[in-house]
Amino acid sequence: MNKQWMEFTLSIKQLYKKAFIALHEPTFNEKEVEYVTDCVETGWVSSVGSYVTRFEEDLAKFVGVKRAIAVVNGTAALHIALKIVGVENNDEVLIPSLTFIATANAVSYLQAVPHFIDINEDTLGVDPFKLEQYLNGIAELRQGELYNKQTNRRIKALVPMHTFGHPCMLDELVALCEKYKLVLVEDAAESLGSYYKGKHTGTFGKVSAMSFNGNKIITTGGGGAILTDDEELANYAKHLTTTAKVSHRWEFVHDEIGYNYRMPNINAALGCAQLEKLEQFIEHKRDLTRFYENLVTDIEGIRLFKEPIDTKSNYWLQVILLDEQYNRDKILSFLNEQGVMSRPIWMPLHELEMFKQCPKMDLSITEQLKQNVINIPSTPTNEV
Ligand SMILES: *Cc1c(COP(=O)(O)O)cnc(C)c1O
Repeated sequence: MNKQWMEFTLSIKQLYKKAFIALHEPTFNEKEVEYVTDCVETGWVSSVGSYVTRFEEDLAKFVGVKRAIAVVNGTAALHIALKIVGVENNDEVLIPSLTFIATANAVSYLQAVPHFIDINEDTLGVDPFKLEQYLNGIAELRQGELYNKQTNRRIKALVPMHTFGHPCMLDELVALCEKYKLVLVEDAAESLGSYYKGKHTGTFGKVSAMSFNGNKIITTGGGGAILTDDEELANYAKHLTTTAKVSHRWEFVHDEIGYNYRMPNINAALGCAQLEKLEQFIEHKRDLTRFYENLVTDIEGIRLFKEPIDTKSNYWLQVILLDEQYNRDKILSFLNEQGVMSRPIWMPLHELEMFKQCPKMDLSITEQLKQNVINIPSTPTNEV
């Protein structure tokens, strides 16, 4: 590797003052210790306790949504989000092929079928124009519901994902869903603190899902949330994620097959402390973007991915885009050997064994981007 790349890794190591720099580490201080200690000392560590309600309220307020239901992880949030909007056995659900596996898994848990769609280069999220053209060809409305003419299955929902925190083209996707009678469910797992035209991501869909896994912008250890403005759906989500138990002082009556998906109190305590710092994390992330922007100008053939127009991104994971002149894996092995942890974008889901038979549209942009998108260290730091 040439001198410019060596200097690039040196600058990153100087910034973080470490020999090995992880892709994204959680940041804790006394607040987390205080709230978690409170759980331990009072014994309220598990399925009952006040931090869950507080976390749900704080989160809903931050995002600007009526209700948030805290659950064990983002995958569970997606599972329930899809279930409560009516995704059923044998339905198809439109999802990008370039997303984390959870999106497709959640669809599969309902015995529904992921239908893979392409993204665009400006947002790294679903391309509404390409999707509309595609649907015009393969789908038709039958009594107010969209059907895939090739498979004869109902296409029930669209699940766009805001890749690495960058909001996708929500106005167009909302309009498209109205036109084609699709339910919009946002996978907002990566976009807490990201806005589209001044409105928080996760507020455009009928329901949306978030994740607070250890590597996300805030963490509850493991955790997730279902967000919605619909009180009825929110109550149903809460019911389903708490074993569908009918409220009673002593009886164990459950009125359907529910899930034990409730977020434990000790995790919610961590989340309350983390939420208090979210604004600061985002500021530091955006400072880090400016730092990287300066660095990459010195290297030919790479650029830093910037937030799409009309959006404010949380810059959860920093992205560099490589020109064709580069071999992605060579760059990845160099950076990782230097102690600068770097990862490729996900392997497109339509290439995975269990999803190979699923319907898909032309995925040329996905195929192209899988070769040249790399994530570089993104832990917020106040050093830049
Ligand atoms: C993190 C993530 C999820 C949820 O993941 P969990 O680990 O189950 O919390 C879902 N979708 C995307 C795109 C994600 O990045």
